[in-house]
This record gives sequence, C-alpha cells and structure tokens, in this order.
Amino acid sequence: MCGTDAPNGTNGASNGVNPANFRSNPYQPVGDFLSNVGSFKIIESTLREGEQFANAYFDTETKIKIAKALDDFGVDYIELTSPAASEQSRRDCEAICKLGLKAKILTHVRCDMRDAQLAVETGVDGLDVVIGTSSFLREHSHGKDMAYIEKTAVEVIEYVKSKGLEVRFSSEDSFRSDLVDLLSLYRAVDKVGVHRVGIADTVGCASPRQVYDLVRTLRGVVSCDIETHFHDDTGCAIANAYCALEAGATHIDTSVLGIGERNGITPLGGLMARMIVTSPDYVKSKYKLHKLKELEDLVAEAVEINTPFNNPITGFCAFTHKAGIHAKAILNNPSTYEILNPADFGLTRYVHFASRLTGWNAVKTRVGQLGLEMTDDQVKECTAKIKALADVRPIAIDDADSIIRTFHLGLHEQNKVQPPAVVEN
Ligand SMILES: [Zn+2]
Repeated sequence: MCGTDAPNGTNGASNGVNPANFRSNPYQPVGDFLSNVGSFKIIESTLREGEQFANAYFDTETKIKIAKALDDFGVDYIELTSPAASEQSRRDCEAICKLGLKAKILTHVRCDMRDAQLAVETGVDGLDVVIGTSSFLREHSHGKDMAYIEKTAVEVIEYVKSKGLEVRFSSEDSFRSDLVDLLSLYRAVDKVGVHRVGIADTVGCASPRQVYDLVRTLRGVVSCDIETHFHDDTGCAIANAYCALEAGATHIDTSVLGIGERNGITPLGGLMARMIVTSPDYVKSKYKLHKLKELEDLVAEAVEINTPFNNPITGFCAFTHKAGIHAKAILNNPSTYEILNPADFGLTRYVHFASRLTGWNAVKTRVGQLGLEMTDDQVKECTAKIKALADVRPIAIDDADSIIRTFHLGLHEQNKVQPPAVVEN
C-alpha cells in the first residue's frame, strides 16, 4: 500500500486535519479540466434558426428591434439568415451590421464560394459555414462526396480568412454522420485555421451521453473552438447543450423561446436557468437577466405565440407555490423549494393561497398583504373556510380575499358587541 489513501485517514489525522472533511458530497458537480460550464459563449440564432419557425415572419424593423434587444441582453454573437436566401435578407443583414452593436454579427451560409462572397460584402464579422455530412444529406440533399466537401470547405475557409473575418465550419446532422469521415474533415479544417468547428444535432436525435462522447472525442482532435447546435425534437436540447459544455464545447447556439425549424433548438432562457445554477457568478456578470422576460415577450409577440406555462423562469407558474406544506417552507426560506431565485430575473414568487391545498401559513401571509390583523387561531379558522369553498368549486384570488375580509369583518363586529361608554356633556 502506498499509504496516501489510507481509508481511515490516519495520515490526514497526523496532519491535524479531520478526515471526515475529505468525504465528498455525492451531489457536488464533477470537476473536469475539459469543462467550459463557467466560460461559454452564446451564438444567438433567433434571427436565423428562429426565422425557420413556422410562425416567423420578421420585417426589417422587427429584426432590428430583436437584434438590439439581444445585444442589450448580452449575447456574444447574433446569427442572421444567409444573404443568399433573398434580396431582403441581404439588405437586412447589411442594416444590422451598421447598427454598431457590441455583439459580433454572423451569417449562416452554405459551403459554397458564391454564398461566401455575397456574405463577406454585407459587413458581417464572421461566417458560419455549413454542409450536410450524413449519408441521408449526401444522397438526398446536395449529392456531394466527402472529398468534394473537404476541398470546398478548405477553399471557402481560406477565402473568408483572407478577408479578415471569423469563420466557423459545421457539419449538419452530425450525429448520423460517419465518425471517421467527420473527424478527418474537422481535422482538415482545423489545420487551415478555422476559428470554430460546429456540431449540429439537426434532427434532435442525440442524447446527452452521445453528445458528451462526440464533443470529448472532437476536443482531442482539433485545437479550435467548438460550437454546438441542438434541436429539441426529443426534449434534450438544454441537457445536450450542458453536456457539450462539460465535454469541452465553447459556444452554444440558442434562440429566444427556442423557436426554430419544427419545435426548435436550445432556448436562451432555458439555458440561462440551467447555467445560473452551475455558474452563478459568470452568468450574472455577463447577461442582463432582468431583461429576459422583456426579450421573450418581444419575440413571442413577433411570432404570435404565448410563452409556454412551463417555460423556465418566465412561465406563468415558474415561481408559484401551491401545496400548503411547500408554501410554509417557502415563506420560511425560499431555497427550500426554489433552485432559481426570481429576484435574479427581476421577477417575484407567488404563494398560491386560493385552493383546497392551501395552508394557514400562506393565508396568514395574504392576511398581512391585505393589511389585516388576525391571531394564528383566527387565521386557521379562516383557512378552513377557504378550503371548504375550494372543495366545492375552483376559487379565484378574489373569492379567497373576500372570505378573508368577511371573516375579518366578523371579528370586528364581535368586538363591537360591548356597548360604547356613554359620554355626557
Ligand atoms: Zn437548426
């Protein structure tokens, strides 16, 4: 035995350190030298991926409003639809480049020299070049083989670099592409100095473990940054983004509310919720979290949808506590049932008191909010009345409030039973 790991800590004890302190908390995050959970960058694609959302139609004015709001929120990059898509897309791209935003402006183009030339002329800071590498896409979409893809990719990358712009090269449908093909292609583009390579789960099929394995393997093959793009078809888009960062990815693609092709990609707000738990200092120092709701409302209105009820952070019940036993603990210490603090996002929690699951602690708080005074026993009696009505039918806040007020008034009347002293003059 080498002795340094003696199970009963005799070595530690001889140093005057209590060996019990070395027992690790099993819920502690796993430290990892590959991990970028505390240093990631966001490539915000509401104005590219989001434009592919079924309901999206962004006119120039709306695009500018969204770009400014994203910039104000603090995203690192804003990705725009390819200028090759339409003449208006090209003009909008130019207009957004002229806004002088802090965020870098990228546009997403096919791996094609004409598309790249058109994009370079719009004034963008960089190009996100993409090509399909899965057998499905090679056979049914562009029909090119891997040798052709690699040759074109190298030409396009060298051209974009010669113009002094940033360039990313991404495969499409990466998780259904041949791993050897994929890695040799990424190695080739890394060698010619691409700034980032991208992995895209275009069909939303990847699981977090697959993501971790692929990104970690890729991390060992290229020296450039790694961007990742996850669709949410199987509900893994946020988890996959998180695992990608743990495995060494540097950039995450998001869109506001996750809007995009089919049911979209990793949502910006959901990613913030995930990351603030892991890296609170980094997230709070970098992003204006109190602007999240405003940003989501702006995009929701532009594409005519409602924020889903279970949306992380901003869903209408994200900080609503209903069961009596939860409410009691929340009122004592919110961390008991909240991993996120609504105040970090400029929001407030709500303790539900108008239901049959309510408890007297929640009602007591409401009594205080209404400016009324009752003893604990009186609050308990009043709570029983609320629960009795809520057992018969759903009740609104107004119903519960009027029960409280009526009950309070009753107490007041009882106090008045004694006749007032007669004052003679
Ligand atoms: Zn996509």
